Amino acid sequence: MIIYGTKSTQLIKETLIDRCPNCGTPNSIEMHVFQKYAHVFWIPFFPIGKTAISQCGHCKQVLKLKEMPASLKTDYENLKLQTKTPVWTFAGAALLAIAITAGVISDRKNDEKNATLILTPKAGDIFEVKTKASQYTLYKVSAIEGDSAIVRINNFETNKISGLADLKSKGDTAYAEDEFAYSKKELKAMLDKGEIIDIDRK
Ligand SMILES: [Zn+2]
Repeated sequence: MIIYGTKSTQLIKETLIDRCPNCGTPNSIEMHVFQKYAHVFWIPFFPIGKTAISQCGHCKQVLKLKEMPASLKTDYENLKLQTKTPVWTFAGAALLAIAITAGVISDRKNDEKNATLILTPKAGDIFEVKTKASQYTLYKVSAIEGDSAIVRINNFETNKISGLADLKSKGDTAYAEDEFAYSKKELKAMLDKGEIIDIDRK
């Protein structure tokens, strides 16, 4: 469950010289200007505009922005010009952007690493493989012969990538005895086509 909503924080408050539209008392109205922002799990995410309320110190009348007479609205607009949107109201959006960028960089580094590993296979390498039936399984390199990697295929398949950790934990006995030879060129093609989705090397 994601908890989200809007909150506001006071930016400025000022006593106005205007007469109160309700009781007519001058110098009695306090204008409070607020910054509204969206939050996710109470982390400020991004700003969503400003608003205000006014309160008369004499008759205690409270007016929301949309209830204010034009003169008070003008005071609000002028006061608003003196305020800045606090940078921290962007915190969540900034963190999200950083996380996405970091994820993209990390994916790209992994792709570069795999492109190197696939052309220099070693005994013990484990390839994470997506089958033609969109299942996931593991190939394990048992030896290198000339230009080819000799692989054994795991007896198990899983329908989710996350299930591969389970397959890995079953160890060596989970691989069939039959061996298949794949040339480096074939392995590279499988990686490029997304059939080999990741490579584990200890
Ligand atoms: Zn008043």
